[in-house]
Amino acid sequence: MHLKKKLKSWRKKSMNSNNFITLIIKMIGTQCNMRCEYCYEHALGDNDHKKTSTSSDVIEYLKNFLDYHNVFILFHGGEPFLANYNEVAIVANFIKNNFRHNYRVQFQTNGTLLNDNWIGLMESFGDRISLSISLDPIGKRDLRHSNSFDYRKKVIENLKKYVSRIDNVGIVSVIHKYNVLDYENFIIDMNKIGLKNFTANKYKGDLGVAISELEYVDFLKKIAIKYIKNKWYKTINLEPINSLFSKKNKLCIYMADDNKCSYFKTFYGVRDSSEYCDHVVNKNILKIGKQCKNCSVYSFCGGGCLAEIKDETFCDARKELYNFIQRIKHENN
Ligand code: SF4
Ligand code: SF4
Repeated sequence: MHLKKKLKSWRKKSMNSNNFITLIIKMIGTQCNMRCEYCYEHALGDNDHKKTSTSSDVIEYLKNFLDYHNVFILFHGGEPFLANYNEVAIVANFIKNNFRHNYRVQFQTNGTLLNDNWIGLMESFGDRISLSISLDPIGKRDLRHSNSFDYRKKVIENLKKYVSRIDNVGIVSVIHKYNVLDYENFIIDMNKIGLKNFTANKYKGDLGVAISELEYVDFLKKIAIKYIKNKWYKTINLEPINSLFSKKNKLCIYMADDNKCSYFKTFYGVRDSSEYCDHVVNKNILKIGKQCKNCSVYSFCGGGCLAEIKDETFCDARKELYNFIQRIKHENN
């Protein structure tokens, strides 16, 4: 076969075998109006990925993915609402007019800069839009900070004002040793102001504030029991609990798939994009080892996040979580 034809057929094959793709778009790079202690973006250094891209830069990049059948476009940062509104609106129109298949759009924000204009732009995507807001329980010590304003007051005000305007609004939290005991009340409080979607991620860095995987699993078990016992599942979507109990888990950190990290692509700017998610700084780590492939819970655990350095409790904790889920499923059948 002619080389050009061969390449074309290879591209087609690899595209079809990976028909679901998440595109992480950092239109303002990693610039942010907050300085959270645990933010991994700060670890990149002040000059990395700080540039602002134009709508044409982003559109040129997006054109590579028009044939994918399921595309999740995630406006990310830093803080994506620091971008120029008109430039984002041009990209939004391009998406609406050119993505032919199933696509969804999400803004991942700290929630401080939401306003009527941004909400209007998001509403224009109809049921394809979701809004994800980073907010943690305060706990004994809040690791989220702003230099010059009361960020939490602002976010809560915005949530109260806008939660009814977008159908799919969620809160994503980072769980660490100062707030692990406060998450349950946090959900209850946020639910009172209309929030229904929650994600509790473990802090994965090395600041000395992390909980171990075993402590995280204990946290998940306790909250799962409450979730089921109090029938919270009727009104609340709590991740990763829902995915762990469902037959089709789509969370990469539990996915048993060698190629899982390549289902994410990150755009930092022109000639500055990554074939992987934003967490990947070293491509060599993206291999699932033999130990995992031969492990009794591999199909459940998937070897965890491939960019994470696992603590010594990791494997026992994942096995404990697997057994817990099987037991609860059995008891409820
Ligand atoms: S429990 Fe440990 S060895 Fe087993 S799949 Fe998970 S990370 Fe790999
Ligand atoms: S590096 Fe971790 S978070 Fe990123 S895609 Fe891979 S498993 Fe998921």
